[in-house]
Amino acid sequence: MEKNIIYLDNNATTKVDEKVLEKMMPFFCERYGNPSSMHSFGGNVSKDIAVAREQIADFLGAENPYEITFTGCGTESANIAIKGALEINKNKKHIITTKVEHPCVLNTYKWLEKRGYTVSYLNVNSEGELLVDELKDLVTQDTALVSIMWANNETGVVFDVERASQIIKSINPQTFFFVDGVQAAGKIPMNVQKANIDMLGISGHKFHSPKGIGALYVRKGILLPPLILGGHQEKGLRPGTENVTGIIGMGEASQLAKNALVDENTRVKSLRDELEKGIVKQVFNARINCSKAPRVPNTTNISFEYIEGELMLLHFADAGICASSGSACTSGSLEPSHVLKAMGIPFTCLHGSIRFSLSRFTTKEEIDYALKTIPPIIEKINGYSPYQKELRELKELRNF
Ligand code: PLP
Repeated sequence: MEKNIIYLDNNATTKVDEKVLEKMMPFFCERYGNPSSMHSFGGNVSKDIAVAREQIADFLGAENPYEITFTGCGTESANIAIKGALEINKNKKHIITTKVEHPCVLNTYKWLEKRGYTVSYLNVNSEGELLVDELKDLVTQDTALVSIMWANNETGVVFDVERASQIIKSINPQTFFFVDGVQAAGKIPMNVQKANIDMLGISGHKFHSPKGIGALYVRKGILLPPLILGGHQEKGLRPGTENVTGIIGMGEASQLAKNALVDENTRVKSLRDELEKGIVKQVFNARINCSKAPRVPNTTNISFEYIEGELMLLHFADAGICASSGSACTSGSLEPSHVLKAMGIPFTCLHGSIRFSLSRFTTKEEIDYALKTIPPIIEKINGYSPYQKELRELKELRNF
């Protein structure tokens, strides 16, 4: 166990809840049978999988546990849903998504674009909110699929997927609607029936179960073809011997997350707000992105103007604070985040944005430590910035 880590990167991954681990343990060395075996040593395990399936169905508000398929991760869920839906709607060649999706959707769409699909991208405004009404002009009789995330991983902004579904289905009831629910799961209540969603993907490691387990909800009546071929497991949609420990863990984690939603919306949210207020109060060149938009309670995205995100992360890491930058380092050049770019945030903020993401395990002491540690780090980094004149002007403008 690493000491003195202040983990504020829970949108990247979360720690496994010990109660989850406890539920999983018997399935490693005692009850390790294959759920497909004829003997009861293995066969009985399928009853535990059935319980986990019910737990996930309940977590997502599905009508029937049969609508839940266990997968390896959120990326796999998205791929099965998107490629499968297009196999069903074979003759339609138009697909829609947003400019701010996770790469598991954006790169799949790019791949499809190269294979003859026409892609339309929905915009977001400067607060990161999705311009859902653009769907009214984009959905046509040729639209095979719309894919929209429920909550954005970088900004935490929650999208109105229920309204999106209303618009899509009123124009073309045959258009499939896939929702990437990975960052919404465990942070806000989800109900696939109420939101009228056809398919939805989640990933266990984002809500305190292990990595390598995900789930896909597919509404009853939609017969998706599988991506990989094999045996009968998961109704043939995701063949391969089940990740039993992961499934049991994710089932348990879903119920713990559901019960913790109130804490998420009160304690975790107030810690997040305290972090934001404390930073803005002490750091003149900090600005909170998307603060006016509806957001999941655990996430904040803060731009530190005129400085580099990666440099901040290195200093934070030295002080034991784990966070993420909005930009990704690709082939030696620093690419600003596609999400912040789509929001049109000023160039001076683009490279210096940091995502802090909390969890139900985050404590007040950790936030107090972050608030004591981050401002002097930023002050030091400001000193290296080539934009000294601009920083001075900003400081004056903000009355610091
Ligand atoms: N979708 C979103 C919004 C995510 O944030 C992530 C992971 O960060 C994924 C999908 C992919 O999930 P996984 O890592 O389980 O493949």
